[in-house]
Amino acid sequence: MSHKENAAMQGLSDKVAAVTGAASGIGLECARAMLEAGARVVLIDRARDALHACCAELGDQAIPLVVDLSDSAAVAGMMPAILALTGQLDILHANAGAYVGGPVIDGDPDAWDRMLTLNINAVFRCVHAVLPHMIERKTGDILVTSSIAGVVPVVGEPIYTASKHAVQAFVHTLRRQVASAGLRVGAVLPGPVVTALLDDWPRDKLEAELASGGLLEPRDVAEAVLFMLTRPRSVTIRDLVILPQRNDL
Ligand code: NAD
Repeated sequence: MSHKENAAMQGLSDKVAAVTGAASGIGLECARAMLEAGARVVLIDRARDALHACCAELGDQAIPLVVDLSDSAAVAGMMPAILALTGQLDILHANAGAYVGGPVIDGDPDAWDRMLTLNINAVFRCVHAVLPHMIERKTGDILVTSSIAGVVPVVGEPIYTASKHAVQAFVHTLRRQVASAGLRVGAVLPGPVVTALLDDWPRDKLEAELASGGLLEPRDVAEAVLFMLTRPRSVTIRDLVILPQRNDL
């Protein structure tokens, strides 16, 4: 490995990252890890107050950008806003997502639509927004927070599972479309993580997983993400599955 590649593995100094869904849970911890590795990070979320509170705590390299990712016009305006704030973008972490579980027969199709808009369409739109800049610079990393539900059919979560399978298909095909332009595309696929997203889980299921050590912490995912981003540019980690050791997924 060259000295340059070795240096690249040390951290993310001189890099600018944008993390969506960064006011909470996995996104917040990933933003924190990228900041600790030396990046400037644009934290994107619709939860204005929480976002500003997070950035105040994280320091002056943490830059808040309020965007409702379900609003296509707002997503289209995201990239010009990032560039006005930072002048460049090296890493897009399309992390924001929602969860709706339960049997299809009892489901609320409008709630599914809201989830699918965020979990699928907003990911596509964010990527579409950043590609011209990354391709022009001939470098960039696009990372998506998928889920173990992206590769394992989780029976209790049919619509969520479908959304994450769609994300996986997107990541795998996009990677091949943009590899020759110098871009890397990958996904992190966590098992269950203790975040607000699990508030919609049935209480008894959550308590049983907590009691048995069947849940990850957001920091576990952030460390996996940092590992992916700090490999030499000759290496793409396309899918990184991360599970609690005590889990039967
Ligand atoms: P979370 O609920 O803690 O965080 C989600 C963040 O997204 C929140 O800050 C919320 O304000 C923001 N958000 C929601 N809708 C938005 C919108 N329309 N525009 C902008 N921001 C919006 O959830 P989390 O667990 O950190 O989830 C992050 C990602 O991880 C999701 O893609 C989720 O599917 C995935 N994931 C979570 C788990 C888990 O068990 N928690 C497991 C695997 C994958």
